Parts: sequence; C-alpha cells; structure tokens
Amino acid sequence: MNETIDFRSDTFTLPTTAMKEFMFQAPLGDDVFEEDPSVNELEAYAAQLFGMEKALFCPSGTMTNQIAIKTHTVPGNELICNSESHIYKFEGGGIAMNSGVSARLIQKSDGFINAQDVLDCVNPDNVHFPKTTLVSLENTTNMGGGLCYDLAEIKAIKSMCKTHSLKLHLDGARLYNAIVATGTTEKDYGQLFDSISICLSKGLGAPVGSLLLGNEQFINQARRFRKVFGGGMRQAGLLASGGLYALKNHIPKLKEDHKHAAQLVEACTQNPTFESVQDVQTNIVMAFTKSEAEVVVKRLQDKGVLCVAVAAKKIRFVTHLNITPSQIEKAAFILKNI
Ligand SMILES: *Cc1c(COP(=O)(O)O)cnc(C)c1O
Repeated sequence: MNETIDFRSDTFTLPTTAMKEFMFQAPLGDDVFEEDPSVNELEAYAAQLFGMEKALFCPSGTMTNQIAIKTHTVPGNELICNSESHIYKFEGGGIAMNSGVSARLIQKSDGFINAQDVLDCVNPDNVHFPKTTLVSLENTTNMGGGLCYDLAEIKAIKSMCKTHSLKLHLDGARLYNAIVATGTTEKDYGQLFDSISICLSKGLGAPVGSLLLGNEQFINQARRFRKVFGGGMRQAGLLASGGLYALKNHIPKLKEDHKHAAQLVEACTQNPTFESVQDVQTNIVMAFTKSEAEVVVKRLQDKGVLCVAVAAKKIRFVTHLNITPSQIEKAAFILKNI
C-alpha cells in the first residue's frame, strides 16, 4: 500500500505526542466565567507577544474573523477586502449574514490590496452610499499562494485608514508563516492593526482554535459576540493549552515547511505536465497544469500524493508540520515523473 503524503491543507496537522501530553496536564476551569487558567494564560501570552492589550480564544478562524467584522461594524456598513479573501469567499456569506455588511471587492488574483485601492473604494460621506468603516487584509494570502505583505505597504494602508477613519483587520490565519518568511515580528503587526486573527490549528499544529487580538474595549465587545455566535466554551483550556504549546514550540519549524514547499516547486518545474509554478514565499505552492487540474490531482492521488484543484488548471499544495523530509523527497520524485 502506498503511504499517503497529504498536501491538501495545513489544517490536517495532528497534535504531536508532546503537545498531547501538555494538553492532558492543563489546569482547567469555566472559560465563560473567565476562570479557565489555561485559556487565560494563552490569551495573556499572545497579547504580550503582539504588544496588544487583549486576546480572545475562539473555536475557529472563521469565528475570529466574523466576530471582528461584527465588532467593528453596524448593519449597512461596507468593508473593503480582496475578492479572493477567506472572509468573503470561504466563510459562507457571513459578512452579510452575521453583520449585515456589504463587501467592496478588490479584484486581484494575488489576494492583496494596496493603499490606492482603499482610497479608490472608500465611499464619500453621502446618504446614497454605504458607510465604509473597515478594511480587511489577509497575510499570508491563501488563494494568492501564501504571499506575504510588505510591511511598508501595510503602513501605507494603515495611514489611509487613519485619514478616512477606517478600522483595519488582519486575517492572519497564516501570519506566523509571514513572520518567519519575512523576518518581521508579532509587534510589527500588533502596532498596525485594530484587530488580528491567527490560526493555531494550521501550520502551528494545535488541533483546534484561533485567537483574536485587539484593545481591551474591542475584545470585551468581541467576547459578547463570541457568546452570541455560540463560541463560549467551558473547559476550553484543554484546547487552548495545545495552542500555547504551539506558540512556544512550533514557530521555528515553519521555516522547514517553507523549505519543503520550495522543493516541491523545484520538482514541478521539471515536469512538462505543469505549465508553470508560482514563486513560493511560504508553505503554499500553486502549480498551473496544462490539462485539467482534477485529472492531475487524481493521478497524484493514485501515487499517494494528496492535493487540491483550486481552479480548472491550478493545483494547491500546502506543506506543514507533519510532512517529513523523506516524504518531501518521495513527493518530489512523484511530481517530477507524474
Ligand atoms: C483557514 C483560514 C481561516 C480560518 O479557517 P477555520 O477553518 O475557520 O479555522 C481564515 N482565513 C484564512 C486565510 C484561512 O486560510
């Protein structure tokens, strides 16, 4: 039987034995009463890392994003984001359903927006127009192929937001990949954003959970919405401790995932099945196929390499904690020869 090598997503990471042992020992309480010591420790630790006032532990990154949008807006407002962004494309229409907010989309396939886009899309103060109140960035960009924002660009966006009294949210599901790849720090981002969401359950390897960061007033309000959305959990320290373990132990390992992704790119470029492969910055590889992507995905699956077709002729591979160097070598061999 072929061993499967799973590049479908970094959400497939399983907790390590050491992480599970740490979770098993975690002191617990009722987090809705704010009495779970492990949740409190994780939230305080993350807030301090980012130099932000407070953090809130939530079940998923979709929830942290949706709570952030809800907290920053009132119904009838408009937010600005990229058309490929997770908050718009992959959260079930939550912007409209949960917050009654419209999305002004910047159509760029790399997943980025820039300061000029914000200026072009912010509505004038006029009764005809929805009031623009929020800008949301994604870093790294998922559909863009794990690309990282230049900090200077974020600063320019921030300054535009200030001029137009807009809040700035970061969907940082893979922010740690960007931090590791660009040599930036948590505090670089903490200084620029009104709210940040980070996933603990992707490359960082915790089984469940995301964090929302912001100032005290924001997080207090976000905590109310977390309850409304059904995300107030009880002995959540069992999960939060996995996140704490991840933040303390797994960040440096992301570098290895990035190296692995580069090895996959190298392999794909040697095979004419692939029309081209996007330059890789972090742990996401986007390969363009000459024939139907689904067919290539199936052929790879038959060889034990799992990946997903994200467009008719585009395949996504995501490297992560559970992929070993020998699996990468094996996958690279298959990619060269498929
Ligand atoms: C995975 C992801 C999320 C959150 O996903 P959940 O599965 O709800 O935790 C948010 N944004 C981006 C860009 C993602 O890739």
